[in-house]
Amino acid sequence: MRKRFIEAVCKQAFAAVFLAALFFIPASAGASAKYVFLFIGDGMGTAQRNAAELYLAGRRETDGDTLKRDAQLAMNTLPANGFIRTDSLSGITDSAASGTALATGHKTVNSAVAMNPKIGEKFSSAATIAREHGMRVGIVTSAFFEDATPAAFYGHASKRTDHYNLGIQLVESGFEYFGGGGFINPKGKDKKSRDLYEMAAANNYAITPRLDDFSSRKAISPHPKSSGGYMPWVIDKAGGPSLADFVSYGVKLLYGDRGFFMMVEGGKIDLACHANDAAAAVHETLAFDEAVSKALEFYAAKPDETLIIVTSDHETGGMTLDSRAEPGAVYGALSARQGSYAKFERKISPVKGARIGDYIAMAQKFFGPGVTPAPDVEHAFRLSMTAKNRRETLEPRYRKLYGPYDPFTMACVKASDALAGITWTTYYHTGKKVPVSAIGAGADLFSGEYENTGICDRLIAAMGD
Ligand SMILES: [Zn+2]
Repeated sequence: MRKRFIEAVCKQAFAAVFLAALFFIPASAGASAKYVFLFIGDGMGTAQRNAAELYLAGRRETDGDTLKRDAQLAMNTLPANGFIRTDSLSGITDSAASGTALATGHKTVNSAVAMNPKIGEKFSSAATIAREHGMRVGIVTSAFFEDATPAAFYGHASKRTDHYNLGIQLVESGFEYFGGGGFINPKGKDKKSRDLYEMAAANNYAITPRLDDFSSRKAISPHPKSSGGYMPWVIDKAGGPSLADFVSYGVKLLYGDRGFFMMVEGGKIDLACHANDAAAAVHETLAFDEAVSKALEFYAAKPDETLIIVTSDHETGGMTLDSRAEPGAVYGALSARQGSYAKFERKISPVKGARIGDYIAMAQKFFGPGVTPAPDVEHAFRLSMTAKNRRETLEPRYRKLYGPYDPFTMACVKASDALAGITWTTYYHTGKKVPVSAIGAGADLFSGEYENTGICDRLIAAMGD
């Protein structure tokens, strides 16, 4: 295996072997990684992991749990830890450039998926290389299958929005498993192109939303309640399989002598953080962590041959925990929430003569006691009741204050988050370094601080040992 991997790697610009020599990457402790899990929490920085852990600790305190269950996230128990820098060639990265770095070991510009769009050069991903050398490959995401992060592992596009083209590349990738959200646009933007599910079925994929079909060695599993290709918000409790269920099914489908490589993305942590919704972010992070626990169960049975890496592509929102962020406060404020910002936003549209008292009462039911008739909440309410194209006249900082979201919803989300001691600096991505945690065969390679491209290089080194 090692020789074949090194041959493949040497075709790449940043060969892992050269990198190892140049940057003194220590040799991994002997065993080669035959079963590899790469977990990517989209938008998940240290504060996001911390907040989810405080929520667990608060739940334990509040429930009066005399058993003292461990309130640590599974991902925070992994022994090897490091940080990666996430900038792309455009500066602050988007998920396409960072997905490309993690998957292929190459920096690129924002919006490009696994290629250099200027010269048309395409980059091979660790998943493709693993497959070329006999391993089975699975891709799981709570976002849609053609979204930038998963796409960087199986396809190439100069623009990440080229979804249908990426969908075709998915169907032709030969990867054995795709699970999670679903296709965003199975028939293309014009809704007239050939259905991607149909094409997949013709390529011997079982289409199995119920995760119980083993009739084919290849499967595509869209969530039965997916919306726009996304899995439903965990906090909205829509039912259906969890991210952990998709991982469990993937393990059963992929397991065998050839080994496997599975990438698992928590894609909606990022969306929650864009909207500065700490409760939705915590629930998505906990679901992602349950998926990590499934991989850890597998690791317990095969510790010498399994490698689990948990990292992120970038931080989103500039999430900060302040002095109020004690476990009880975090759990108290966030567990009072009845759903995601997106669910509440659907209830709000401009109504003539709307009475603010009614809306505050509704918001208090939905977001909990953090919402009060404070001046900023009232100001946001007036904007929400104004037609979108007239809001800027009323409030020149409208976009800066509320991003692309409904103003009243954002004011309520922020008030509830603040009660938990959680504040935000932006609706976009930040340049913060993000953590890497690893366990198993070759895990020691992932310690230290390095560029995001180093994840791919180390993965290949660990698989090829
Ligand atoms: Zn994002």
